[in-house]
Amino acid sequence: MSWSSGLVRWSTALHCALAGRSVVVVERHTAGSQASGRAAGLFKSVQADELRTRLARRSITRALTFADWAGVPLPTARSGSFLIARTAQHREYLCRELAQSRSWGADVREAPRTELSYYQPAGDEYVLWCPEDVYIEEPASLIRACLAACRRHGAVVAENEPVVGIPVSGGRVAGVETESRPIAAPVVVDAAGGWVRQVAGLAGARVAVAPVRHQLLITEPAEHVNPADAIARVVDAAVYLRPARGGLMVGGFEPGPLPVDPERQPASFSTDDVPLDLGVLRDLSGQVAAEAPAASGTPVTEHRGGLFTMSPDGRFVAGPAPDLPGLWIASGCNGSGFSSSLAIGEALAAWITSDTPPPGMTELSPGRFGPLTDNALVSRGLWQYAHYYDPLGGAPSTSDS
Ligand SMILES: Cc1cc2nc3c(=O)[nH]c(=O)nc-3n(C[C@H](O)[C@H](O)[C@H](O)COP(=O)(O)OP(=O)(O)OC[C@H]3O[C@@H](n4cnc5c(N)ncnc54)[C@H](O)[C@@H]3O)c2cc1C
Repeated sequence: MSWSSGLVRWSTALHCALAGRSVVVVERHTAGSQASGRAAGLFKSVQADELRTRLARRSITRALTFADWAGVPLPTARSGSFLIARTAQHREYLCRELAQSRSWGADVREAPRTELSYYQPAGDEYVLWCPEDVYIEEPASLIRACLAACRRHGAVVAENEPVVGIPVSGGRVAGVETESRPIAAPVVVDAAGGWVRQVAGLAGARVAVAPVRHQLLITEPAEHVNPADAIARVVDAAVYLRPARGGLMVGGFEPGPLPVDPERQPASFSTDDVPLDLGVLRDLSGQVAAEAPAASGTPVTEHRGGLFTMSPDGRFVAGPAPDLPGLWIASGCNGSGFSSSLAIGEALAAWITSDTPPPGMTELSPGRFGPLTDNALVSRGLWQYAHYYDPLGGAPSTSDS
């Protein structure tokens, strides 16, 4: 089996190796150098449907017990999180999420107020407390842990070795060609993040995702930020906050997101070339300036960003590629690929190694979308991005599909 390599594939590779399969992970740059290494590290138990809730909660469990099943320690912050609504409309939305999430097994509770050093509530917010939520302080620690566990369980890791071809023989995928060698494999998993469409295209397959920029910042250490504070998600502002390195991490979802398609960029394009715009984050943090002054009033020590792979329905694109036996897709992370990777990888590995889809996984099948123009793909992906916390704005247009 063969892969390209961010966190989703490290997890899939690790679970396949644990199942006794022979695995080669092939990476164009170095492990975790692209989207996975830039993540905020947040895990969120409240999700928009039952399957995603199950996967998100399973991932939290797998992260907390990582040392037990993978044999490598993984530091996690069991912080919990607050979901905050400051408008009547968003209050209604959170009430619905509360009822849904509970019916799907998540532990979510109404809270009288937030209890955070860095966020002073106005007093009329509607607040949910999600005790199951966790974060990983530095995303590199999960990547390092997966990489070490892969090696420990026998997976071969090839960095700085781009995949340049996917040979097809007798109607099925026969392996990959890298810049330096052919690698024969009965199963190839394309988990190339923002490049997933280009890699699938090497075998003539199409994947329905649109890469979209996402950014965050970390402030200098600030007064009123307690490292033990929980995560806060202010849904009407589409902003998330958490303690980071003594300061605050601030990220969010702008209403006019930027699509960035690596296919239309020079071949050398990497995450380092994604254009960053601090003004976007300033606008977002400005929306919570009254409650979280440190978010906008503290100097910034790090500003980073990368690509989300947005799908037309906001759900993962994971499973066998239609009409091409041997090729598997692991993408469409829609901004949850860091946190859900442990469960998605586990489920995909079970499907690959047993030839039987785990419960619900066929809902994520790459073949579920009909033909879509590139314009329709991008406009739906942008809609999903802009409504990440707030799916209240009406259905995306389908007129251009
Ligand atoms: C700023 C930011 C914050 C985020 N915060 C969170 C968060 O808090 N929680 C969360 O769940 N998610 C978060 N995400 C999303 C998360 O990071 C992604 O969903 C996840 O990392 C996607 O992983 P991936 O493996 O698909 O992609 P990547 O990590 O980008 O990996 C893809 C890999 O494929 C390699 N590749 C590409 N082409 C080839 C080729 N031809 N040959 C070989 N290798 C190739 C690339 O070099 C890359 O290493 C965030 C993302 C960003 C940018």
